[in-house]
Amino acid sequence: MADTTLMSIPGQVDPVPVARDITPREDGRVDLIGLPKKDITALFEGAGLDKRQAKLRAKQVFHWLYHRGVTDFEAMTDIAKTMRPWLAERFVIGRPDVVEAQHSTDGTRKWLLKTSDGHEFEMVFIPDADRGTLCVSSQVGCTLNCRFCHTGTMRLVRNLTPGEIVGQVMLARDSLGEWPKGRMDDLGDEGEAEYTADGRLLTNIVMMGMGEPLYNFDNVRDALQLVMDGDGLALSKRRITLSTSGVVPAMARCGEEIGVNLAVSLHAVSKDVRDEIVPINKKYGLEELLQACADYPGASNARRITFEYVMLKDKNDSDEDARELVRLLKAYKLPAKVNLIPFNPWPGAVYECSTPERIKRFSDIVFEGGISAPVRTPRGRDIDAACGQLKTTAEKKSRAQRDREEAEAAVQAG
Ligand code: SAH
Ligand code: SF4
Repeated sequence: MADTTLMSIPGQVDPVPVARDITPREDGRVDLIGLPKKDITALFEGAGLDKRQAKLRAKQVFHWLYHRGVTDFEAMTDIAKTMRPWLAERFVIGRPDVVEAQHSTDGTRKWLLKTSDGHEFEMVFIPDADRGTLCVSSQVGCTLNCRFCHTGTMRLVRNLTPGEIVGQVMLARDSLGEWPKGRMDDLGDEGEAEYTADGRLLTNIVMMGMGEPLYNFDNVRDALQLVMDGDGLALSKRRITLSTSGVVPAMARCGEEIGVNLAVSLHAVSKDVRDEIVPINKKYGLEELLQACADYPGASNARRITFEYVMLKDKNDSDEDARELVRLLKAYKLPAKVNLIPFNPWPGAVYECSTPERIKRFSDIVFEGGISAPVRTPRGRDIDAACGQLKTTAEKKSRAQRDREEAEAAVQAG
């Protein structure tokens, strides 16, 4: 069912009205995915369990949800048989719906997902020799309209809920068959589970899918806290990276309240160019942004900040740009590494990718300046899974539909 109620997400300049992010289920049951243990405890208490019982059951259920990945209360074998239907009547264990799953020739996978109220968004899994990275979305669409980014052209925007964000990680684990297997039937309340943890495919998470994570701060924080919870998914904060286009006022909070690695979409070294390609720059300028990076809690030479730089032909890719980049990063004494991203084109984009020679030269100059600047290999291009290509099939179809309608109207008018 479409959700028509509106709320605001900050836009480039003014807040943008968007669909609100919580739609209660029609059957009145509550989805437990996305809730911290204390909220599950409170719900159990509200449903009639006494304090002690509620706390104990919440602990058990939390473990089943996030450590074992079960999606059915019947599978919770250390919870009394009579208790399981009681839970199922009141609660559900949700996952985003999978609309389509695609596999690239290079091993990259992309999923088109759908929220229960019909909004589509995407997630991408990128396997490498030594790691498997899940690229997670924080919003449906994005209000920021960076000129080189396909997601920024989506009309519809909605914040994803904590459940929809952590749900992506759960779903990826389901698909990769990555939940620890074993039996817990005979365990006492305090017993240790006896199971074997499988070798891990999903080792890293990047908040680099659709959306600006710092414009959905609370939900992203709550979701990542679940991802990092030692009793649950237990991924280390060192293996999680959040990418922002530069929402300066939320950056310190990100370091303090989430504590993950920071990536900043810099993309330009002058006001003019950054204003054009990353329009949030008009609100929070380069100096402010670099100062916020210098102040980022937890950044150090061991935990450097990644600066993403998309290579756009004749726009931001000159030798002078490279030298200015080095100068700026040094002026602010930033523990930095630079990620050079070849521009991934999409239909209607106004930019072209820099030539491989230009990218190599740019990279060499930054390296010579003492800052690591590898060129990121585009992955999953054949399934539109590469950086900045995420825009849902539904949106693409609706544009095609619009084109057809326009063509028909022209024929009729003529
Ligand atoms: N909104 C956040 C995170 C999502 S975008 C941000 O902007 O940082 C993830 C990265 O992909 C960003 O660095 C973004 O600038 C980059 N990107 C967007 N469109 C791209 C494109 N067409 N080609 C290459 N990189 C792109
Ligand atoms: Fe939004 Fe990031 Fe795309 Fe900019 S690059 S429009 S901030 S998703």
